[in-house]
Amino acid sequence: MSIAKTFLEWPVLRQVRSRDLLGRGPAVTSAQTRAKHPRTQDADTVARSVCPYCAVGCGQKVFAKNGKVIAIEGDPDSPISRGRLCPKGAASEQLVNAPNRVTKVRYRAPYATEWQDLDVDVATDMIADRVIESRRRTWQDADDQGRPLNRTMGIASLGGATLDNEENYLIKKLFTSLGAVQIENQARI
Ligand code: SF4
Repeated sequence: MSIAKTFLEWPVLRQVRSRDLLGRGPAVTSAQTRAKHPRTQDADTVARSVCPYCAVGCGQKVFAKNGKVIAIEGDPDSPISRGRLCPKGAASEQLVNAPNRVTKVRYRAPYATEWQDLDVDVATDMIADRVIESRRRTWQDADDQGRPLNRTMGIASLGGATLDNEENYLIKKLFTSLGAVQIENQARI
């Protein structure tokens, strides 16, 4: 850089030149900073949602471009969270975009040391067989004094935080109708 250019880049001269007398605006921003823009600016659609991670239920704005989620921010109109998200909620864009997201059924057979991919229909049949067998084997009509129980203590459900409201509703209905008592979700633990 020439001496003249170095001199002109002197901070006080930069402030005067850019009329940034308090030195909190263009005089102190680098070219790299000026080139940056909010990542939400590229979105072509914005949908309102609710963070699935815990029972607080913070409001979210989901920004998408060409049908792909590109950012998730807090919703300032939410009376619950008023635009805020904790670090988990702020990272929930990774629920769909994380490169290490597991998208196949993974199965480790009893006593096996390795996991294997499983066809989803095969996995569904295996789960159904186990549910039917466990329910039959552990079903309780009544307690030892003859009072009705109509339940099984042999099946439990633990939902994950990435399940949505509709999925949780159906899971609760399904397991209650099967007679299960222990029906929980990670968000309440
Ligand atoms: S995980 Fe964080 S952002 Fe999500 S609902 Fe709970 S407090 Fe809100």
